[in-house]
Amino acid sequence: MKGTKESIEEFGKYVIANYGRLPVVVVKGEGSRVWDADGKRYLDLFPGWGVCGLGHCHPAVAKAVAEQVSVLQHMPNNYYHPWQGELARLISEASFGGKSFFCNSGAEANEAAIKLARLHAGDGRFGFVTMRDSFHGRTFAAITATGQEKYQQGFAPLVSGFAYAPFNDLAAVEEAVDDTTCAIMTEVIQGEGGVNVASVEFVQGLRRLCDEKGMLLIVDEVQTGVGRTGEYFGYMHYGVEPDIMTLAKALGGGTAIGACVASAKVSESLKPGTHASTFGGNPIACAAGIAVFETIEKEGLLAKAAADGEYLRDGLVRIGESGGWMKEVRGKGMMVGAELNFPGADVVSACMEKGLLINCTHDRVIRFLPALTVTREELDEGLDILESVLKTV
Ligand code: PMP
Repeated sequence: MKGTKESIEEFGKYVIANYGRLPVVVVKGEGSRVWDADGKRYLDLFPGWGVCGLGHCHPAVAKAVAEQVSVLQHMPNNYYHPWQGELARLISEASFGGKSFFCNSGAEANEAAIKLARLHAGDGRFGFVTMRDSFHGRTFAAITATGQEKYQQGFAPLVSGFAYAPFNDLAAVEEAVDDTTCAIMTEVIQGEGGVNVASVEFVQGLRRLCDEKGMLLIVDEVQTGVGRTGEYFGYMHYGVEPDIMTLAKALGGGTAIGACVASAKVSESLKPGTHASTFGGNPIACAAGIAVFETIEKEGLLAKAAADGEYLRDGLVRIGESGGWMKEVRGKGMMVGAELNFPGADVVSACMEKGLLINCTHDRVIRFLPALTVTREELDEGLDILESVLKTV
């Protein structure tokens, strides 16, 4: 296998440089650990940017994928295969009883939700209200829905019909809604926007507003979904149900999958010919997704995520209080952010040097999306490394 230097050189020559990458070449992962090409071991408290919800290479996911690849790898969607139906049933039973359209990523799931909402309105309403500091992906509709100009710059003209309101400001959302609005779209915890948790009043207010005006409520659960927050889906903390939710990341346990899940009534508007995806709902990703749901149940990972998240947040608060580095610690379950009083990029790099992989978003928010299977010892180890780094920056 190539070493670190050779791999990075090869990237330089042949891979488009559209990502800022840290200089680590990862060759192996197991649980919350990864190893680089030089044999150095890291503690990964941000595994797969939230994709590896069960940790790297969970044995149940590995087994499901390994078995599936020698049975049936791909079938186009003009036929049936059992794994897609089974995964859709598991999602439906774990959520609001809806139906799934499968695709391959979060952006595609949101694209499907946006198209579905316009079709469902059926009366010419085409508008969406989304939130400032949101993130919904990188396709054209998704960057338009994303309420952050930095993701839109250089790509005008964007998709028409989008208006924005500050997160957690119900009155501003009401003001942004007009006669053209067919849906409101939001995360319940903004991930890329800085781990901002929606208030109960806000989410319940959005539901009420949608009901009053005949609009759909779309919840982007790409980051919050599939157990991340200590419930199967983030909306469950709020006592209301969306009309559409979108999933990706942890759904496939490391394989590429996305889903747009709509209530049975709304789903009827996505008729044959209106939308499609060649790879969507392929047998390998679906088999992995089934293993993810089975493992969450078998290992009791929802309750564990809730408890371990509290443990991690408590640890961060303790560190913050001891050194005065932090403004606030936020999150739910295994989705945690610590807002620093200064930019966090150097902290992330220094942690990496010391063998800890974490993330910084929105300039100052150190973000953790640990595997639901992480151990308390691993969380302690991560907290110790972070504290030692904060003492030096
Ligand atoms: N929505 C949310 C809330 C996300 O966090 C992300 C990815 N970070 C996306 C959508 C886009 O997902 P993908 O990169 O799979 O298209």
